[in-house]
Amino acid sequence: MLEVLRSGQLSLGPMGERFEREFAAWLGVEDVVMTSSGTTALHLGVRMLGWGEGDEVVTSPFSFVASANCLLYEGAKPVFVDVEEETLDIDPAAAAAAAGERTVGLLPVHIFGYPAAMPELEALAVEHGLGILEDACEALGAVDSEGRKVGARGNLATFAFYANKQMTTGEGGMIVPRGPEEAARLRSERNQGRAVDMGWLDHDRLGFNYRLSDLAAALGVAQVEKLGSLLDRRAAVAQMYSERLGSIEGMRTPIPGRGSEVRSWFVYTVRLPQGVDRDATIARLAERGVASKAYLPCIHLFPHLRELGYREGQFPVAEAAAADSLALPFFPAMSEAQVDRVCQELTAALGQG
Ligand SMILES: *Cc1c(COP(=O)(O)O)cnc(C)c1O
Repeated sequence: MLEVLRSGQLSLGPMGERFEREFAAWLGVEDVVMTSSGTTALHLGVRMLGWGEGDEVVTSPFSFVASANCLLYEGAKPVFVDVEEETLDIDPAAAAAAAGERTVGLLPVHIFGYPAAMPELEALAVEHGLGILEDACEALGAVDSEGRKVGARGNLATFAFYANKQMTTGEGGMIVPRGPEEAARLRSERNQGRAVDMGWLDHDRLGFNYRLSDLAAALGVAQVEKLGSLLDRRAAVAQMYSERLGSIEGMRTPIPGRGSEVRSWFVYTVRLPQGVDRDATIARLAERGVASKAYLPCIHLFPHLRELGYREGQFPVAEAAAADSLALPFFPAMSEAQVDRVCQELTAALGQG
């Protein structure tokens, strides 16, 4: 950080290049392009794939709203399909059933850090000639069913570095391009449409100010260096929770993986036993001094997506998850005593304590 301040180059400087280089090396890809947020990374991904007016893109209703909004920015339509019960990621069979004449792409979201079924989705994309944009904003460090790091399969993929993500630059994002030409175009589009070798007032395409400052990049460099331990800590906290909550009758704890799949722990979200009033549980926990949250609401039910015709009841698996999911306090520095306390209060709030 001080190095950046002393250099006088607060944006578009060497620290940004270093962050991109070190992040790419960590992920095991050729190159990455940093942006001002996960949302702006997604927007550039949508533009790269040329998705726009009249195009339909199959995606998940159980997500953070940015994964659908990025399509709306370009006039493309999010076509939601239901998710799988165990992973809460897009169900490839439902995606296949939804792929129609106007479908141009797939936008899977690795929700809660669980790797989506990419081999099946890629096969579907090949069959129908679809583009793929992976929203890996919650999945930094996750590993898929073929043992590959999420975001490193050769598809366009995005990460986010908002304060609650596995690593943070305050605000920030990253997009993984499919080769040097895309990388150059992304660097131009994030910088008002300037090519690298152009003057400040030369613009050869439509662009945006989606830059990340070198100050933020300095935070990113420091975070990449300790990413392994950050991720390990999160996994350890999650394991403590699951060990303690697994014995509560009817409680469904999030799976850490299946086969080669490994979740990257973004949040710790349980599904409450059937019949338990989730919102009353949140209130009872709050009275006991424990913050928890209904997480996530289905995005197809937000007003601006209802305008496209979406309604309750269309995606029963996603909607059931939205109705009974509860996010518990979760951060890497959480101690065993803190986890114990949350688990005790939750047990009491459920009337079993
Ligand atoms: C955080 C997040 C984003 C957006 O990231 P920002 O940096 O907040 O713009 C997109 N998709 C998902 C699934 C996210 O969790």
